[in-house]
Amino acid sequence: MKYSQLHTKTNKSGKDFESINATLLTKAGFIDQTMAGAYSFLPLGLRVLNKIEAIVRDEMDKIGVELVMSSLAPKSLWEITGRLETVDVLMKTVGANQASQLKSNNEYVLNSTQEELITPIAQRFNTSYKDFPFAFYQIQAKFRNEARAKSGLLRGREFRMKDLYSFHTSETDLKAYYEQAKVAYTRVFERLGLGADTVMALASGGDFTKDYSHEFQTRCETGEDILFAAHSANIVFNKEVAPSQAPRLTDTQEPREMEEVEGTGIIGVEALAEYLKIPVEKTTKTILFETAEGNVIAAAVRGGYDINEEKLKKVVGTTSLQLASAETVKRVTGAEVGYAGVLNLPSEVKVFFDESTQNRINFECGANRTNYHSINVNFGRDLPMPEQFYDFKTAKEGDAYPETGEVYEVFRAAEVGNIFPLNTKFTKAFGYTFTDEQGQEQPVYMGCYGIGTTRVMGVLVEKYHDERGIIWPSQVAPFAVHLVSLKGAEAAAQQTYDQLQAAGIEVLWDDRDVSPGVKFTDADLIGIPVRLVVSMKTGDKVEWKNRAETATELLEVSAAIARIQT
Ligand code: ATP
Ligand code: MG
Repeated sequence: MKYSQLHTKTNKSGKDFESINATLLTKAGFIDQTMAGAYSFLPLGLRVLNKIEAIVRDEMDKIGVELVMSSLAPKSLWEITGRLETVDVLMKTVGANQASQLKSNNEYVLNSTQEELITPIAQRFNTSYKDFPFAFYQIQAKFRNEARAKSGLLRGREFRMKDLYSFHTSETDLKAYYEQAKVAYTRVFERLGLGADTVMALASGGDFTKDYSHEFQTRCETGEDILFAAHSANIVFNKEVAPSQAPRLTDTQEPREMEEVEGTGIIGVEALAEYLKIPVEKTTKTILFETAEGNVIAAAVRGGYDINEEKLKKVVGTTSLQLASAETVKRVTGAEVGYAGVLNLPSEVKVFFDESTQNRINFECGANRTNYHSINVNFGRDLPMPEQFYDFKTAKEGDAYPETGEVYEVFRAAEVGNIFPLNTKFTKAFGYTFTDEQGQEQPVYMGCYGIGTTRVMGVLVEKYHDERGIIWPSQVAPFAVHLVSLKGAEAAAQQTYDQLQAAGIEVLWDDRDVSPGVKFTDADLIGIPVRLVVSMKTGDKVEWKNRAETATELLEVSAAIARIQT
């Protein structure tokens, strides 16, 4: 293709966005921002996106069959699963003006994911055990009302996703397929050039399953997720679920007499530690919650940690936790919010201690008296030694994997894919059962499997660029060769272009009448893996340069073609 036929241009002096991918992709002419979180894919950008999606499609065809569902859905479908009210990024559309509303006043959901559509489709055609297992997938735009859409293609309000849904007659069969999906995903990311930096991390199963879901996460400094890896155990967790063991404290102080000290208005462990002149680790954060069953519980972590409510829910054995209201706090502690402690709570309040609160001598905790804190508190003397310590804190850097004691490697990553065992969550909602060999109705099991194809494109740019522009891995590059012709060599360039095309090589020919400098900087910005220059100096040869390197080499055109084809 000739550059002049793209009808888009680079814009090196264009505005810088908050993210590298948006800045480079915009300046190089791959995408155009419509508004925050929504982008048009220009001819160059579409070529990259198509290549990414072709790789995804090729691997998904091995484990499923492609279709495409509507982006609009009636609200009623989302009411069936109850998700109309609970998906916090769900969007809807309405007629934009009076005339339009007069035609139809309906409101439609813009699907953020498509379980609500695929489940009834699957159900319509597959109800005998003989029909199972099977999987449908699509690659399509999704809509989510994201709060922050400042990281370019990494977080769109409209973005593209490959979503696959599998259906099974048993949990065992779902699990077997799930393993196959992991293999297919691993292949996808290898083929996309992200294999070496992509790990499978354990993440929350949401309210679908007590098991983990699995995220495919690509190491990327600008990624939004934080991962905790225990290499010797070959396991990686998303921060949201990482089990954690706090660095052990070795406290050799002599126990001192417990006292209550006044600290009017001092709330928060940092301020408190400073005020009391003690290390933050000696403070204790005690938070009161109300459980789904209506009980009040207290959870205590050592200062410097936060409580992870998902972990705490499991420890407590409840389905929901709500921060106790100010009235409840007052009723059970006798104090205003901010002074709750673990001492002398009414017996109906069960206290849970995180393991980070162990091994401390003379620690602080709220005095359950407004404006007061207890110091020099000791287990076994001022309150009984807890029968059990739990882990319900949010893991932080320096923590260890409890199973092995290995200190985690903590790093940032971008979630490029996520697979979920949904079990019967959606099939139950739609009453989707199958008839087994004995003629009995049985529940259908389901899994869902996503890959963000536009996010992958953003991640590739975040990872593969330098100060001059993008450096595309060859398998997703918009073209294999960027042919640059300099003044006076038009005929030779035309010949080279024809030869490359005849050999089936995708080539972008910068045929513009602009200076060599402009062409070279544009070639670097666009990032096609190989640059070939034809000039008066190169004669019947071409000058080869890899985008990622600085060295150039003179080659016969046939030799260049052979090298590209290997
Ligand atoms: P995140 O935690 O990043 O918000 P998610 O866990 O809500 O994502 P999933 O529902 O698991 O996303 O969607 C499947 C895949 O779609 C993700 O792994 C990611 O690659 C992609 N994706 C999700 N949200 C976005 C978005 N706003 N923009 C671009 N890609 C997205
Ligand atoms: Mg996810």
